[in-house]
Amino acid sequence: MNKIQMVDLKGQYEKIKDQVNSSILEVVDSTAFINGPEVHQFQKELEEYLDVKHVIPCANGTDALQIAMMGLGLKPGDEVITADFTFAATVEVIALLQLTPVLVDVEPDTFNIDPEAIKKAITPRTKAIVPVHLFGQAANMDAIMEIAEEHNLYVIEDNAQAIGANYHFKDGKKKKAGAIGHVASTSFFPSKNLGCYGDGGAIFTNDDDLAHTIRGIVNHGMYERYHHDVVGVNSRLDSIQAAVLRAKLPNLDTYNEARQMAAKKYSEAFKGQDNIEIPYTVGSDDTHVYHQYTLKIMNGKRDALVKHLNEKEIPCGVYYPIPLHSQKAYKDERYMEEDFTVTNQLVKEVISLPMHTELDEEQINFITKEVIEFVNS
Ligand SMILES: *Cc1c(COP(=O)(O)O)cnc(C)c1O
Repeated sequence: MNKIQMVDLKGQYEKIKDQVNSSILEVVDSTAFINGPEVHQFQKELEEYLDVKHVIPCANGTDALQIAMMGLGLKPGDEVITADFTFAATVEVIALLQLTPVLVDVEPDTFNIDPEAIKKAITPRTKAIVPVHLFGQAANMDAIMEIAEEHNLYVIEDNAQAIGANYHFKDGKKKKAGAIGHVASTSFFPSKNLGCYGDGGAIFTNDDDLAHTIRGIVNHGMYERYHHDVVGVNSRLDSIQAAVLRAKLPNLDTYNEARQMAAKKYSEAFKGQDNIEIPYTVGSDDTHVYHQYTLKIMNGKRDALVKHLNEKEIPCGVYYPIPLHSQKAYKDERYMEEDFTVTNQLVKEVISLPMHTELDEEQINFITKEVIEFVNS
């Protein structure tokens, strides 16, 4: 059996090596390292794939979130509601812009932000909601867009983990995650479902004016050379990363299908296990692209299982071990523990298993056998 990895970037690279290598060398040869034609081409191709009007590439997913919020003109003191159970980048940029983060609880089955908790957290100062499409599945966007419309709020989708996932609306319509809210951000960090070979990110929107504003913000607030109309940042996707992404984008659906297939095999093996809860998918299979395959261990053995898997050289991860509202940087006396019962429980139960495009049956069988035997021992 091949050594099991949490993410197998090498195996994936081997299959596209010739194309990636020649595209990278072409960029080097052209010396158009910044804002070269590859960046523009990639932008167009991603717009088409997602069916959004504007993709604005930038340096990473954290910048993408920050720039989206700057583009919307959010001001210090504005309240922004987001999930307590997620990666810190989301709340970090809210705080950095001196906006007021308002963390709310998530749903126990999907791990995504709970629309009922959003409703309770709305005040006259609320300006935006940031749903994070956690682990590869979109949050309840029907409910979130309805709440946003009723209270006149912006919706910023953090799509760093769900690129390529579909969202099916109640009325039968379907859109890509990240193409639903007013604006969305994504990350091309190497381990993401569409990863480059360094840092990268992008902002998506269907709003022409917002897209124009954001294109200036990513470039030092310049709309005309050496005229700085707003305070901006310097955030670019470089041409070599764009070349890698162009080689990988046509394979994104195949990559996500490989993840879905691995998830299916995991879930079949875990079915009927009382102490193990498998990931819940809303509706059809195309709604979850399994950035992570995350189990809940229901009998208190999660930490012991992590140790056991490490001993067996099976990598695993706990995403996320500490609720954001308990993090030193984001504590606030407004928060009450009883408002975070789901997150407080999830941080003790979740474990993510190896998930990537190159997992084979033998590896999955070995992993599931070890997990089941240990949890029931
Ligand atoms: C990875 C990630 C980010 C940040 O992306 P970077 O490119 O690492 O800055 C933001 N939000 C979520 C949910 C992520 O998973």
